[in-house]
Amino acid sequence: MNDNNNNAVSKKSPLRDLGVLLRKNIANLKPYSSARDEFSGSASVFLDANENPYDTGYNRYPDPYQQDVKKRIAEIKGVQPNQIFLGNGSDEPIDLLYRAFCNPGIDNSVIMDPSYGMYTVSADINDIEIRKVLLNDDYQIEASKLLAAADDKSKLLFLCSPNNPTANSLDRGEIIKVIEGFDGIVVVDEAYIDFAPGTTLLADLDKYPNLVVLQTFSKAWGLAGIRLGMAFASPEIIRILSKIKYPYNINQLTQQRVMQSLLNVEEKEVWVKTIIAEREKLAEELKKLSFVQKVYPSNANFLLVKMEGAREKFEYMMNKGVIVRDRSKVALCEGCLRITVGSPEENRELIERLKNVQY
Ligand SMILES: *Cc1c(COP(=O)(O)O)cnc(C)c1O
Repeated sequence: MNDNNNNAVSKKSPLRDLGVLLRKNIANLKPYSSARDEFSGSASVFLDANENPYDTGYNRYPDPYQQDVKKRIAEIKGVQPNQIFLGNGSDEPIDLLYRAFCNPGIDNSVIMDPSYGMYTVSADINDIEIRKVLLNDDYQIEASKLLAAADDKSKLLFLCSPNNPTANSLDRGEIIKVIEGFDGIVVVDEAYIDFAPGTTLLADLDKYPNLVVLQTFSKAWGLAGIRLGMAFASPEIIRILSKIKYPYNINQLTQQRVMQSLLNVEEKEVWVKTIIAEREKLAEELKKLSFVQKVYPSNANFLLVKMEGAREKFEYMMNKGVIVRDRSKVALCEGCLRITVGSPEENRELIERLKNVQY
């Protein structure tokens, strides 16, 4: 980071200098330099990467920086290409953030509870202590509680909005208090953001150098199978993640397939509208069932539903070939199943099965 950048850094964030926050081995790392890194411009003879010269469509290594894809995402999201990191699902940036900032056996990460399981799994793999802060009864965060859980060894703080499995968006004022109060990196996972219009923090990226926003192609975009996740952050943080990733982490098939979808945003928008409408219909149908105690408000593409005999109903349905997610043992979700909003046919089948539950 040069001095200019430091001055540009907003006074609004107490972020410790990235040089201090980073693990020493990462700060000192000299990254792998691929054959194509040393070349810029145009050429027609490529004898630098030990590839097979015969054209299979995939005989060349893919662009390690995914420049075309990032350019298109930048246009759609209203950010700069150098504020984007692409990973093998959101799982990759989650893991890389731990590996960049958290010293195994020493540092810790603060997360809200209940939330997405990968923050904990990834921390466990990297031997990072997790500090869980229980949500309020209305599934909202309290900034003061999250900040109170942090100490000088807290490098990352994970928020998820809309949250999985509780389905609600977090209060924006509380999120901002966390970002403005924490002196490490705040990661806001927006995997379900397309279903909660107007709530993204992407527009605040320039204001908060300690903010990382995660989004994904796995949900609204209908591309879970190609494994592509996005992290948005300051160019400094993006450079760090890019430095430690596998050189060719996004394969050529994925880069090509996502470009197709990025040139057809309308299709995604129609799906989102349809899924939101189906979500509301499904919620109404579920509320009619005598054993359903509560359908929680949802800003996502799934419903959290509290019912009598949740585990038994889950097993009954599974035996009938209808799979939902049992969250009945999760903190604050006692007696709850998490049900993805499917196609109209799938949702109808779900309701029919539930109506006829016998066990
Ligand atoms: C589904 C989901 C993701 C997406 O993960 P990918 O690795 O991108 O498929 C990320 N975060 C949350 C909270 C999710 O529920």
